Formats: sequence, structure tokens, C-alpha cells
Amino acid sequence: MNQMHRMNPRLSEVLGLICALFCISVSADAFIIAKRGEKAACVISVPARPSACLEHAAGEFAAYVKRITGVELSVVSGDAGGKPAVRLVSNVGLGRDSFRFRISGSDFLIEGDDDRSVLFGVYDFLENHCGCDWLSADQEIVPERNVIELADDFELLRKPAFRIRESSYADMRDSPDFAAKMKLNGYMFNGRWKDIHGGTPSELFDRWLGKCHTVMRLLPPEKYFKDHPEYYAEVNGKREYAKRMQLCLTNPDVVRIVTSNVLARIAKVYPKVKIFGVSQSDRWVFCTCSNCAAVDAREESHAGTNIEFVNKIADAVAEKYPDVLIETLAYQYTYKPPRFVRPRPNVMICLCTDSCDFSKPLGKSRYRFRDMNEFTDDLKWWCTEAKRVHVWNYTMNFRYFMHAFPNIYCLKPDLETFLDCGVTEVLEQGVASPHQAGMALKTYLIGHLLWDPRQPIEPLLDRFYRGYYGAAAPWMRRYMEELHAMSRDRDELKHPMKMWGVIDSPALKTEFFERGAEYLARAAESVKDDPVRLRNVQWEMNANDYTRIMRSGEISAYALCRDGKYPMTPKMKELQTAARRIAADWKAFPRTARISEDSAVIEASKRRIERYAQFDPSKATVGKCVDIPASELTTWSNGRYFKLDFSDILVEAGSVCRVKARIKVDLPADAKPGDKVFGMFVRGQPKTGRSYFVKNLKPDSDGFGWYELRNPCEIRDGGCYILEKSGKYPITVDKVRVSFADVTDRLVEVK
Ligand SMILES: [Zn+2]
Repeated sequence: MNQMHRMNPRLSEVLGLICALFCISVSADAFIIAKRGEKAACVISVPARPSACLEHAAGEFAAYVKRITGVELSVVSGDAGGKPAVRLVSNVGLGRDSFRFRISGSDFLIEGDDDRSVLFGVYDFLENHCGCDWLSADQEIVPERNVIELADDFELLRKPAFRIRESSYADMRDSPDFAAKMKLNGYMFNGRWKDIHGGTPSELFDRWLGKCHTVMRLLPPEKYFKDHPEYYAEVNGKREYAKRMQLCLTNPDVVRIVTSNVLARIAKVYPKVKIFGVSQSDRWVFCTCSNCAAVDAREESHAGTNIEFVNKIADAVAEKYPDVLIETLAYQYTYKPPRFVRPRPNVMICLCTDSCDFSKPLGKSRYRFRDMNEFTDDLKWWCTEAKRVHVWNYTMNFRYFMHAFPNIYCLKPDLETFLDCGVTEVLEQGVASPHQAGMALKTYLIGHLLWDPRQPIEPLLDRFYRGYYGAAAPWMRRYMEELHAMSRDRDELKHPMKMWGVIDSPALKTEFFERGAEYLARAAESVKDDPVRLRNVQWEMNANDYTRIMRSGEISAYALCRDGKYPMTPKMKELQTAARRIAADWKAFPRTARISEDSAVIEASKRRIERYAQFDPSKATVGKCVDIPASELTTWSNGRYFKLDFSDILVEAGSVCRVKARIKVDLPADAKPGDKVFGMFVRGQPKTGRSYFVKNLKPDSDGFGWYELRNPCEIRDGGCYILEKSGKYPITVDKVRVSFADVTDRLVEVK
């Protein structure tokens, strides 16, 4: 920080300034790097015995200059022999990751705070001065130019907005080359960066005590729970053993053991590593024992127990390691600021945006989750009371990766809000899977904005659309703009855009995705002879069509129709082509073919896409009455519900059907006649179904019986469910029969 104040203010970086320089025609005194058709005007100079990173930086500079101008610059170590040189100079003391360009005598200097900063400087120069553009990990624009030259007073210092800048989008996380071009650093890249990138960038953050959910490592329940259940959270009156557990944070033995384990870990890796996470598990439960509850009541927040606990560990750590930070989460139930307790100076807060609406920039949304405060109010509080605040921001739908999450116009204002509040580090969370809506554009924007959120977004959008989509750019832009306009117009109180959003939110209208399919088809048509751009368009088509298919129920192996012919419409045929494209891509990119954080959504999505992809109408069961085996029904909530939503069956529009099921109930000897066993209800219509009680059950000799669930049942109901009421009377469903109402069968009488 101090070094920044010593700098000449004239040097402070402004992207606009670079663009201006880029366009200036340079005077006769210009420093010429390369001129097409002429022999090399300079050499690239690195110190004697350069590091792998500096050598790589020089090699990259030479390679791109050659591609831009055709001129081959040689790289020399040590003395440049009096020739003009592009000199790469490291360890200049400019501040973490910062670099400077300047002319000195007959040399052009790219100076960096360390080797990595020099590499960042090389990429920045190639991008902002020479017109290179890295659109994704494997697509770049390298322009052809006649000359690369600089004004003889060219001088520019570039500093990152945030100390730690990271994102988990596939291209950033899996391609260290691309992440280096975006000038990122951070914990996500631990173990991925090689020496040529300057090695592991986040030597600050421990790999074992990472930045989230570490308490179970620090107090493993498999070791302690049996003898000391009181070490763990009391939930619903009981110390519970679960997959993701929380601790009883006020228990002095817990403090003692965790402190000792943290100190032991620090001793192993210090001083290479200086940030250690002590943070809650990823589950919304907390200890409600009387001691913990008293602290939380006093503090009016569950952050009360957490900060008090972390402070105790931080105090013990400070005695021995004054420059070590203990990081903890302000997440889910610990996000609300506590009333009295304050984090110690050596406690870093990782504040998460998990409860926010993302349809508007943070601070502009009227939505509040439960009794929570407005996010930016809490952000300001934490930034005032904690010495260092890290923000963990969510930038996509984590339940449906392939469903649109229109937030590109929020990325810049949100990062500016973080910067204005004094946040020092940011993680923009995506996922390392290519199967995501808007992924390439978000990757590109986030990569650039993390370095400098003050830069205008329009030039970035323009560069990206033109570069990544070529001739398809106008249609792609139209698609994205209309999507974002629709999302912005939503009433966020009724339909907030949450990171766990549903796929059928009315805020993103089905009509749009239908119209969007036309835009994307036109986009694809305009690049049909450009396989790279066509591929880029198809990723977005996949996402759009995924939403259409997930929202559509119009294909089924079971069709209920009076004439016995399967009514496959043109739209169904089109969706089938789309499903085949999506299924092929999921297969072609299996390692990263993750489409949700929720395994039930992955299962349901794969089933739906496969059903569309593989459907053969000639093999469908068609008739006035169809039986659907239970194995074909979608289950919900760990099998508690069987879902019959008419994607399981194709019914002629406007038909009125009758729904019944063959069900067996394992009744215990002490079953009470008045107990409800199962029933059917329709979402949003509480009294439309029929329920069965112990006394109504009329099983056949094999234990199964036919039970009418609904009659009449109109197709437009949309969602019908057979509900297993409780674990008390387990039921087995054999099949569900849907028939036109004129088809009769023996039915159980129900009073
Ligand atoms: Zn407790």
C-alpha cells in the first residue's frame, strides 16, 4: 500500500488512457519494437540465468510479436550488447502483481513486482497495446500489424483492484495459461500453476485448512463423537451425527482441541502459508445448547458464537505467529453481523452472497432473505469491523447450471461495490464445467473486471461478441440483451434470482426461450462455415434448449389418444434434435459433464434429455388407457413423492382423464384405522386429490390394490403427485394407470 502512495499520480492506470495511446500515431522519436518487413529493431532482454517464468514471459512476447508483425525478436540473457531492448525486469517493488511500462534511454522496460507480475505485464501489453485478445482458453485474436511502436515518453503503472482475484469457471481453473492472461491469482490455482506462471500464486492460503468448511477436519467426529457427543452441535434437542456437522462452539474443550490442531498445522507449513481457515460446515444448522443459544441471543446473530470462537483461536495464534490470519465464513446463518463481539485484527472474514437476489446489482434489490439485512449494509459493517474481508460471490445458477442466470450487467457494479467498501479479495464462483448458460461471456467479463472493475463494460462486450461469435455476433447479442431485459423487469420480491433458483421461474418466460431458439438458429446459420464460431454458438443453444426441454412435457413413451396414433408435433421433433446434440455433448465432455450441484437434478435432467434423444414414436405405448410402471415415474424428496406431471404421458390437449394406481401398503399389526396412508394432491390446489386411510385399504391376495387417485383429472393441472404420507406405512407403487374417463375398471370404494 505504501508504495502506491509514493507513485507519481500521473502513472496511475486508466484503461481509457491505454486505448488512447493505442490510437495515437507516434512521432519520429518513437520506440519501435517491430516493423513488418524489416529486421528486428530490438532484442528482448532478460537477466542472466532467468527464472522459468521470466524466460516464458520473454518467449511469449517474442512469439506474439512474430505473429503480429512477422518480425522475429531474439531473446538475450544478461547484457543486450548495446542494442535497444525490451527489458523484462523483476522485483521492482511495485506492490503485489503490479507492473509498469516505461521507456528508459534506448530501452523499453516491462517492470514487475515479481516474475509473475512481469508475465502479467507482457500479456497486458500484448492485449491493450497490440490488440491481442484472449477470448477463452483456446481461442484468441492475434491481429496483423505493420508496426508496434511506442511514444518515447510512454509510461504506465498497472495495479490490480483486488489483492486476490479468482474464479472457478472451467477455462480459468483448468487452464493456468488463460488464468495468467486474465492476470488472476488465488487459492483456486493452488497446485495448477507451473513454474512458468510463477508457481503457486496463493502461497498465502493453506491447502489443508482451505477457505471454507474446515471444522470437521479440525475436530473429526469419527474420532471424537462416540466419547464426546457434547463437542458437536445440539440440533433439535440432540447432539446429532451427520454428514456435515457443526461444532458446539462454546465448549472449552472444543476450543482447546481446535486451537491445538490449528497451531500444529501452522507449524508444518509456516512461513510459506499464512492464511488458515476455521469455518463452519456447509449446512444450515448451528448449536442450540443453552450456552451457545445465550451467546447468539445476546449477539442477535449466530455470528456471535462463531466470531467469539474464532477470536479465541486467533488470539492463541497471534502469540506465536503474529503475521498469520485466521479466516472464517460469514455465510448462511453467520452472515448477519453480531451486536457486540468484533473480529480480532488477525481474523479475515469471508463474506458470502448466498442469500442475495442477483437480478439487480447488490444494494439495488428490494429482496431480503428471511430477516436478513440488505447485503451491502452488512458488507459495510464487516468491512468496517474486520481488518480484511474476502467476498465469495456467486455468478450462476448452481441448481441448474444450464439455465440462464442473466447477471452480466451486475458483475461490474457488484465488484465496484466490493471495492468501494474496502474488500481486498474476491472469488467469483462459477463451476469448472462447460455445460453452463453464458459461460464464455461471463468468464471473459469476470477475468477482466476482477483486475479493474472501473473499466467500462461496453468495449469488453463488443470485443467479446465480435471475437467469439464472428458473423453470429448480432444475433448472439440480441439473444443476451433480450434475456437480460426480461430478467431486469422482474418483480424481485415475488421472483428473486437466487443461486439455487428453480428452472420454471415465471420471471424468465418460456416465450423468450422459444424466441431465443430462433435467434440462436439464425446465429448458427450465419457461421455455418466457421466451425469454431458454430461450436461457440452451439454451447448457448444447448443451454437454451435444455431449458425448453426441461420446461416441456411434450414427449413420452406413453400416449393417450383416441385414434391410436402418436401425435408427434414439429416442435417435438425439433426438441428431439436439440436433445441429441445436448446428449452428445454431455458424452463428449464427460469429465466435466456436471450440470448441477444437486444429484437429483442431474438424474432428472439426464433422464429427460435421454428420453427426448432416444424416443421412437413407433415403439411408444399408445391407447385409450396406458399403464406407467413405477420405475418410469420421477421421484422427489428421496422417494417420498412420485411425480406424475404429464411428461410421463402424452395426453391430447384438453383431455379429461382418470388416474389410478396399483399400490401395496405394508401395514403393521397395530395400524390405526383412522391413519392416512397415501393420497394424491395437485400443487397449488390443496383439496383436489383423494386420500386413503388404513380403513379404506382393499388389497387383493398379492397385497396390491387399485386406488383411484383423481377423476376427473385435467391435463392442464400440470403437477400431480402420489404422496407417501409418512414413514409409518411404507407403500410400494406398482404402476399408475391413466385412461380416458370412459374406460372402466374395478375400483376400490372410498367413503
Ligand atoms: Zn453449543
